[in-house]
Amino acid sequence: MVEDNLKRIFKELPPGVKLVAVSKFHPAQDIIEAYSAGQRRFGENRPQEFAAKVPVLPADIEWHFIGHLQTNKLKFVLPYASMVESIDSLRLLEAVEKWGSEHGKVIDVLLELHLGAEETKGGFTEEEISDILCPARRASFQHVRFRGLMGMATNTDDVSVVEADFARIEAFKKRLDSVFVLPDFTELSIGMSHDWRLAVRHGATIVRIGTAIFGPRS
Ligand SMILES: *Cc1c(COP(=O)(O)O)cnc(C)c1O
Repeated sequence: MVEDNLKRIFKELPPGVKLVAVSKFHPAQDIIEAYSAGQRRFGENRPQEFAAKVPVLPADIEWHFIGHLQTNKLKFVLPYASMVESIDSLRLLEAVEKWGSEHGKVIDVLLELHLGAEETKGGFTEEEISDILCPARRASFQHVRFRGLMGMATNTDDVSVVEADFARIEAFKKRLDSVFVLPDFTELSIGMSHDWRLAVRHGATIVRIGTAIFGPRS
């Protein structure tokens, strides 16, 4: 099943759009199945679950961390993640910078833009992101490589609301690209199982798909 689901997505995904197979809550065996079908990029959102899976799975997997990360859990994530997509506060960004300087590592990150009206969701405002990326400020992050933006659309069946969210983050990304010279800032991570096709039409370079590959999370 996992293999069939993946093959369908591979066939439809335009070249240049990277697939993160979101394996949270699913056992390592499911990840092996996806790996055997050719998938090499996986996403997890809980630090301890992530740290437990990494050592039992193939070393050439590219792991993306996509969940809320508390500053006291960095040690479970930063040694293994090729990218932290979910930088959602200045406090976290500064803690990642500090960890990187202590461990002699540069960590690839996406800045999460708060989309939609849900107060419970994390993420930065556009102003906060612009402040972080301005040259004077950016210079204080020598152990963080800013790779782009991440966003989660409003959780609704109303496609026009989701589309408005995607259009906003797409436009904001373009504005940042025109204001700042950021050669590494190439990624736009939007789109999940039910809305990834729409996200691709709005410039997604990374889609994060869980349910449509692995089935429902129990
Ligand atoms: C769980 C999760 C996904 C995948 O969601 P599906 O609807 O199962 O595809 C994508 N992004 C984030 C941040 C998630 O937490």
